[in-house]
Amino acid sequence: MEGIQRIGVYTSGGDAPGMNACVRAVVRTAYAHDIEVVGIRRGYEGMIDSDFVEMTPRSVSNILQKGGTVLKSARSDRFRTPEGRAVAAENLTEMGINALVAIGGDGSMRGATLLNQEHGISVVGCPGTIDNDLYGTDETIGYDTAMNTAIENIDRIRDTADAHNRLFLIEVMGRDAGFIALNCGIGGGAELVLIPENQSDLKEVKKQIFGLMSSHARSSIVVVAEGDQLGGAQRIADALKNDPKFDFIDLRVCILGHTQRGGSPTARDRVLASRFGVAAVEALIEGHTNVMVGLIGGEIKMTPMKNVWSRSKSIDYELINLTKMLS
Ligand code: ADP
Repeated sequence: MEGIQRIGVYTSGGDAPGMNACVRAVVRTAYAHDIEVVGIRRGYEGMIDSDFVEMTPRSVSNILQKGGTVLKSARSDRFRTPEGRAVAAENLTEMGINALVAIGGDGSMRGATLLNQEHGISVVGCPGTIDNDLYGTDETIGYDTAMNTAIENIDRIRDTADAHNRLFLIEVMGRDAGFIALNCGIGGGAELVLIPENQSDLKEVKKQIFGLMSSHARSSIVVVAEGDQLGGAQRIADALKNDPKFDFIDLRVCILGHTQRGGSPTARDRVLASRFGVAAVEALIEGHTNVMVGLIGGEIKMTPMKNVWSRSKSIDYELINLTKMLS
């Protein structure tokens, strides 16, 4: 590449608290190296629609602590087609943008790879998703905040569950991965945790819940990842309600849903996002492309983008044993 002309930065896919801190770091690091930055609103949709905004170190003041993303996020079906990506590339070239920082999940990284392969635009990714299910980083932007939000809510529910000796099935986010559920289960003292990575058998789950509720007259909390193989908290609750053996249980369902996406990022997420933003710009300056920056063993490392979306990150199975031991 003949050097960076201008950097384009965008947030894409599912939003995550801390994305703004990352955008701020990208802009300020680039300007510190005398490189201009253009913000691309609504991810790949905005790239196709030329929804660009000039960014300066001052324009990113006071966004570090804000949840969501000031650049907005979107999913774009048009970008999935070669024609859509050609329009996006043309618009970028017209703006003098020949390098991109993509902040998002594996889908966003996949899109960035294609843009590089088909149109030669340099791309570096920053992992941003509350689910933490990205290969190439121990932690993603937004995960810590989402986990803390979920635990705070589990604590609140525990108070009311305890007052009535109720069973609560609490559903947390995690369509394909149980990182949030597993860690919230441990941090929130759940009696049982159900995650997508584990074979869930309804008969076995019923047996465990029956055992929990009949052996001691107290509240119980079951944390269920939305992608659990039994179909989520409501499905499990319906199965229990339809079985007269469970009539003695005062059962409630609470789906935390999008509360976990919003809110001000935690200190950890702000620092992580800032480190990723700085590292991404420095990587571009050093001539790297088609890589995602990530945190591995406490250090910032680069992983080929292809690996990010073609490999999967495994949960720590030790933690599953921990939930059993501590419940
Ligand atoms: P995330 O980045 O959070 O995983 P998505 O999977 O929705 O979110 O991806 C965000 C966007 O990235 C999609 O809306 C689409 O525009 C683009 N994208 C995802 N997968 C592909 C793909 N295989 N080819 C081209 N673009 C893709």
